[in-house]
Parts: sequence; structure tokens; C-alpha cells
Amino acid sequence: MKTITVNIVTPDGPVYDSEVSMVIAVTATGEMGVLPGHIPTVAPLGIGAVRLKKENSTELVAVSGGFLEIRPEKVTILAQSAETATEIDLARAQESAKRAEALLQARKDEIDYKRAELALKRAMNRINVYEGNI
Ligand code: ATP
Repeated sequence: MKTITVNIVTPDGPVYDSEVSMVIAVTATGEMGVLPGHIPTVAPLGIGAVRLKKENSTELVAVSGGFLEIRPEKVTILAQSAETATEIDLARAQESAKRAEALLQARKDEIDYKRAELALKRAMNRINVYEGNI
């Protein structure tokens, strides 16, 4: 089985480093699947789950924006924040989602609204990755 190295790094340090058979990431323009030997590319990342396919399993990492750099033998993800499913604090994400929903209900002004929408997206992404619900 052909593999590609994946490194996920955040300002707090490395989060993931492994050999996988395929990477699926959410870029600003949609989902992108990366196989070994992919042409060199750089793409901005959205808030979403990175799916890391191995021979008999798929691992998930919640990512909140950043950049994806692809080389034929290596994928580097520079993320604002990233957590593997086991690192996610479910209660924290649920609280964060609740706070964001309350702000969205309040509809104070456009900046707060946009900020709350993004916070809700980050929280729901973490909840989905924790639950393996992707
Ligand atoms: P919160 O409202 O809970 O602070 P947030 O979306 O505003 O969430 P971020 O700014 O995206 O948080 O992340 C700040 C730091 O906290 C990052 O290091 C991120 O990995 C970590 N983090 C945020 N939420 C969680 C979570 N539910 N479980 C584990 N780590 C988290």
C-alpha cells in the first residue's frame, strides 16, 4: 500500500504525525482528497474534520482553519488549532456551542453575529469529531 506522510502543526506545537493512504481535508472551496504522489499544491483550510485513512481505520482531527501544503510524498497542515478525537473536551465544546447559540439568538450586531457563527462551527466540528460523526 502506498502511503504519504502527514504532519499537523499548530502554534502550540505538533498534533499529528503519521503515514496514511489518503487525506481528506475541508478547503475553502470544498473537500479535497489527497493520495500519495499528488501534485504540489497549497490551499487555505476551512473549519472541518481532516480524515486520515489508514489500511483498516480512519482517524479524525478537528481543524479550525489554516493552510494545507501538499507535496508528492508529504502533506503539511498548519492549523490555527487542531485536536485529535481523544484530545477533545466534549463538555467544553458543548458549552462553547451553547454560548454561541445564545449570541446568535441575541443578534446584537453583525460582527458579533459573524464571530458567534464561527464559534458555533468550531464547536460543532469538535463535537462531530469526538463522536466520529463525519
Ligand atoms: P472555547 O469557546 O471553548 O474557548 P474556541 O473555539 O474559542 O473554544 P479556539 O480559539 O479555537 O477555541 O482554541 C483555543 C485553544 O483551545 C486551542 O489550543 C484549541 O486546541 C483548544 N480547544 C478549544 N476547544 C477545545 C475542546 N473542546 N477540546 C480541546 N481543546 C480545545
